[in-house]
Amino acid sequence: MNPLPDLHTHSTASDGTLSPRALVERAAAAGVKVLALTDHDTTAGLAEAAAVAGELGVRLVPGVEISVTWGGRTVHVVGLGLDADNPELQAGLARLMEFRAWRAEEIGRRLERHGIEGAYEGARDLSNGRLIGRTHFARFLVSRGVARDTQSVFKRFLTSGKPGHVAGDWASLEEAVGWIRAAGGQAVLAHPARYDLRRTRLLRLLGDFRAHGGVGIEVVSGSHSRDDALNFARHAREQRLLASAGSDYHGPEQPWLELGRLPPLPEGCTPIWHDWPLPSGASSIQHQATA
Ligand code: AMP
Ligand code: MN
Ligand code: MN
Ligand code: MN
Repeated sequence: MNPLPDLHTHSTASDGTLSPRALVERAAAAGVKVLALTDHDTTAGLAEAAAVAGELGVRLVPGVEISVTWGGRTVHVVGLGLDADNPELQAGLARLMEFRAWRAEEIGRRLERHGIEGAYEGARDLSNGRLIGRTHFARFLVSRGVARDTQSVFKRFLTSGKPGHVAGDWASLEEAVGWIRAAGGQAVLAHPARYDLRRTRLLRLLGDFRAHGGVGIEVVSGSHSRDDALNFARHAREQRLLASAGSDYHGPEQPWLELGRLPPLPEGCTPIWHDWPLPSGASSIQHQATA
């Protein structure tokens, strides 16, 4: 088994359910040789992940997934290979964490007005004192029997137009890419098929992203179908963007999405790792690049 690098995963530092240690152990057991930890708006899990990766012979790529408001909607930008100690990056992430802290209280207030008590405290307790995301609210509401699974909580309470929805006030695209570049990282547009953009808007997003210094898009993603992958492989070629691959793993509670099972990149993509120094044993990872 020689799986692709997995360049998009979450731990308990954001809304994943495995600690950074347990995540890296599970990845290693699944044969993943190159792993990026990309928690939402925080690098707090990276030190632990790197230490465990060193023990297990996994190459840990330090990453982050930054929340961005672009054209009135939320998109996600993954940063890969960054210096987590960079002050510009950390100042930017600190601002997003402040917004998250306020937003969590506001979601709690709105749900309370809707007759759901204690959601803020419940979500906060599930987050173990770390960042509170909508996923923590979703898990709490499921535990209270308000909905049968987290997806239906999102659908009924947490998305646009629903009682617990609070509009994002995240980084601009330029800021997010700028912070990643300041920290020496590569900026990758996460799961582009998820944004449900018509062609004109999508091309504008890709154009803006490249203009600000973004270099890659996720072609293979846990939230992409094979058609999505083929479609975005074509966009990557046409826009001269590198192709990334990431599961967007959040934990074993989503058994349909496991570490170490990513499909290969479609032919003709240039993998974002094409010029990375890779550890021995990962040197023969999929390389269908031609571009
Ligand atoms: P947040 O950044 O706190 O607004 O939460 C975004 C996260 O919520 C995503 O990274 C997913 O983990 C999760 N999420 C978003 N939409 C859904 C959905 N429809 N069903 C389940 N989880 C979702
Ligand atoms: Mn998430
Ligand atoms: Mn995302
Ligand atoms: Mn993610």
